[in-house]
Amino acid sequence: MHRPSFAAEVTYGVMGANYPALELMALYAAAAMHDYDHPGRTNAFLVATYAPQAVLYNDRSVLENHHAAAAWNLFLSRPEYNFLCHLDTAEFKRFRFLVIECILATDLKRHFEIVAEFNAKANDDEAPGIDWMSEADRLLAMEMCIKLADINGPCKRHDIHIQWTHRIAEEFYEQGDEEADLGLQVSPYMDRKNPQLAKLQESFITHLVAPLCNAYGEGGLLPGSGRKIPKARKITLAVMKLKRQVLNAQEKPLQRVIAMLKVVSFAPPAEAIRPLPSRKVRCLQTVHLRENYDYWVEVHKREEQQEEAKEQREEEQVEEEKGEAEMETIEEEGARHPAKDEEC
Ligand SMILES: [Zn+2]
Repeated sequence: MHRPSFAAEVTYGVMGANYPALELMALYAAAAMHDYDHPGRTNAFLVATYAPQAVLYNDRSVLENHHAAAAWNLFLSRPEYNFLCHLDTAEFKRFRFLVIECILATDLKRHFEIVAEFNAKANDDEAPGIDWMSEADRLLAMEMCIKLADINGPCKRHDIHIQWTHRIAEEFYEQGDEEADLGLQVSPYMDRKNPQLAKLQESFITHLVAPLCNAYGEGGLLPGSGRKIPKARKITLAVMKLKRQVLNAQEKPLQRVIAMLKVVSFAPPAEAIRPLPSRKVRCLQTVHLRENYDYWVEVHKREEQQEEAKEQREEEQVEEEKGEAEMETIEEEGARHPAKDEEC
């Protein structure tokens, strides 16, 4: 049987209705497990310092492998933790596979690869569209979902986004401190003496969050209304226009009959019956993303202006000091070689 696709709704698109319960549960479990036992350091740091986890996982998706393995270890450590005892062996195997795949998908090293694969499937000109009957397609959409959940800070309400930004910044600065202590080069954006928070957020949104969020929304997976006029609305407008013609033709019986026939026989185009998802979605997340992006651009601009002004002040100060020093030299010279007539 063909599962109905609710993601193709014009005004409301969610992925939940296209998934079997087992897969949805795997997605939720993966979300809960995906950062388990996080040491607050990046993959690059763990690799650079030969941390035990990096050695264990051969420098590959070190954190993500650790989150998944450590969480599964916890799950298996006591029989009373097994909330999956009602699954049969095949179901449990599939559940575990999906959870691991979803957690490993949160490694940002795979970001562009996953977004490109999703766009090729759902959004590009020649894209075939997501086949909800295909396990591979459903997994790809799950990966997009957990990725967006993972980095959706800039899609949150502004005040909440600011709080999370300061928390991640503090984690970064702690890593920067440790890098400095170890005599390593401090990673970009992790030097608390040179905070570049606005620049970091601006580039994080431009390069990572916005392309992901847009791809996800254009794929019909974000709840919200399209920015383009949906086809159903276009049809309503066309019918209203025809009805107006009927009213206008009231005085002329023949024209009125013709106009009424047009209304009755009006057939919407075939594609309008199952409307395509509108491409651009406007919803809470995309509105917040735009607001937060504009905010960071503004802050970044202001900071750059302040930086420029500071540099200029420093230059002027150097010039001034140079001038003063020259004056002093002249005065000193003058003191060492007093005017001849004074000697006399
Ligand atoms: Zn995370």
